[in-house]
Amino acid sequence: MNQSEKDELSAKRLQENLSKIKNTILVLSGKGGVGKSTVATNIAISLAKAGKKVGLMDIDIHGPSIPIILGMENEKPQATSEEEIIPINYQDMLKVISIGFLLDSQSDAVIWRGPLKHGVIRQFLSDVKWGELDYLIVDSPPGTGDEPLSIAQMLGKGAKAVLVTTPQKVSTEDVRKSITFCRQLNLEIIGVVENMAGFVCPKCGKETKIFKSGGGKYLEDKMNVKLLGSIPIDPAIVETTDDGIPYLLKYDASPASQEFAKVIKPLLTLDK
Ligand code: ADP
Repeated sequence: MNQSEKDELSAKRLQENLSKIKNTILVLSGKGGVGKSTVATNIAISLAKAGKKVGLMDIDIHGPSIPIILGMENEKPQATSEEEIIPINYQDMLKVISIGFLLDSQSDAVIWRGPLKHGVIRQFLSDVKWGELDYLIVDSPPGTGDEPLSIAQMLGKGAKAVLVTTPQKVSTEDVRKSITFCRQLNLEIIGVVENMAGFVCPKCGKETKIFKSGGGKYLEDKMNVKLLGSIPIDPAIVETTDDGIPYLLKYDASPASQEFAKVIKPLLTLDK
């Protein structure tokens, strides 16, 4: 197959794949470390628990954490004879693909320039056999650089975004940039998730706003984006992440779980 035939096949597969995916949702954040991958994974798990067919695509090329969060660091996706990639099946709940699966070791660093990143994102969309999905959740790298731009353009009209922030100004200011980015690309914003919002001391029950409070509400008021939920700091989130068990599979009645339930409510009622 020459290059132009390959490009044609890839374009055809991309269209075929997208035609079978009802909703594509990009999970974006202004900066790293705010819990974007945690939120993306738990949104995916929550939707799967609600009986939906869900794919989870990790394009955080420089810090792919989904394989760690799902405890699947040693998985390697297989290819079909037609050179399509079979996503990893997570407990019959999620179809998952991550750049982390393609590295020889979790500690490998990926030094890729723009066109290569664009190529791998395109491959994840066109060459992975996603099949019929109700939702494809995309864990995007933080910021408004090459990768979020590539994926937003490839997904085209109809893709939607969920933004993740922590409550304090250094994070909300960056999320404002992500909001502008989405608006410029006509990416509909479903809302913002405020993560790490307060910590309740397990000993005395007193709540401390470690990263201040009100960031999500501020974005709702000033930037006109819906606040979907405020997830508190919960040490069990760190523990479950390190143990490779999605939080919502272990805890379903905690304050954080209840906020996750609020977050997915508007997702469950999305029309194609
Ligand atoms: P990002 O994708 O934004 O870089 P991650 O989802 O990888 O962030 O989260 C960074 C760290 O913070 C992880 O160790 C994760 O377990 C932890 N974390 C995320 N959200 C919470 C929370 N609400 N409470 C406690 N720890 C959290």
